Amino acid sequence: MSPKAADWLERIRALDLPRKVRIMNVCGGHERSISKAGLRNVLPDTVELIPGPGCPVCVCPEEDIYQAIQWATNEDLTLATFGDMLRVPVNLRKNEIRSLEQAKAAGADVVPVASPQEAVALARARPERRVVFFAAGFETTTAPVAAMMAQGVPENLFLLLSGRRTWPAVSLLLNAGEVGFDALIAPGHVATVMGPEEWECVATDHEMPVAIAGFDSDSLLAAIHSVLRQVQEGAPLLDNCYTLAVQPGGNPVARRLLADVMEIADANWRGIGEIPASGFVLRPEYAAHDARKALPVEEGEARRRMGEMPAGCECASVVLGRIYPAQCRIYGAPCTPRNPVGPCMVSDEGACRIWWSNGRRA
Ligand code: SF4
Repeated sequence: MSPKAADWLERIRALDLPRKVRIMNVCGGHERSISKAGLRNVLPDTVELIPGPGCPVCVCPEEDIYQAIQWATNEDLTLATFGDMLRVPVNLRKNEIRSLEQAKAAGADVVPVASPQEAVALARARPERRVVFFAAGFETTTAPVAAMMAQGVPENLFLLLSGRRTWPAVSLLLNAGEVGFDALIAPGHVATVMGPEEWECVATDHEMPVAIAGFDSDSLLAAIHSVLRQVQEGAPLLDNCYTLAVQPGGNPVARRLLADVMEIADANWRGIGEIPASGFVLRPEYAAHDARKALPVEEGEARRRMGEMPAGCECASVVLGRIYPAQCRIYGAPCTPRNPVGPCMVSDEGACRIWWSNGRRA
């Protein structure tokens, strides 16, 4: 631990908290840093850190993954997607193809890409084939996708977009009857793009302490200290503990690109349901490259089964911070990174995968 982080930890330990304080984070990167640094083990017992909705792959609706599998296996096209989407299972029968990885193994042309530029390069390299770029992500991932579309893409490239906005999911939690946390660590990357202002109403409307954090222990502990002090003093506010990257108004170029290329729409979150104004969709002027509009959509019986979670899977409760990963009845047996039952055990940003990878067995 750096001297700065150790100093923040000392300050946290010196606080006289009136009660146990539950702090939710809403970023897979935060949860990864917290787990890797073992922060839960060094914080006082009066501080509880809860992973929340921080994994876009985990909330990507089954019907989108199912559709991607159908296109990859039934159509004469190439399916490009970020690597962590490949192994996400959908709830199909054992004899059916249940992930893009299985589709690839069965001969489908599925290509992992690391960026929108790679998807464009793939389409340019294969002009005779249609290429679908399946992009699931929060604001930070969706902004580069918007840039890709704004720059113009090859005729044979189509976008299956599962872009999601972080803030509406947090709003859903805050407006729920019983809020399961007392303070919020807001996502540094999202605030870098969208601006810190999105998180102000946590303090003003919900009277809940909130601090934006970066991704090292210094910044996370500074943010934890900030919200704990706010609890102690009974004076909630929005504190920016990631000033190196987060500026008022966010990144104006990225925000303009998002607004120019995409519209905000109600969107389905896997296991959770529809959340108002929580998704990005392409504007009508990009319809020729919108895979949902330009390609045939599968409407079969299997698609209607989409949305049912696998038996025993409690990913939705994990994503909403209602249970810890290890409280899922099938965490570790049978659900492991090698044999994932739910999406939270697949992605690097999934809480179950992060906990398991960092040795949490119970
Ligand atoms: Fe989902 Fe597996 Fe985690 Fe359970 S252990 S919540 S099934 S990912």
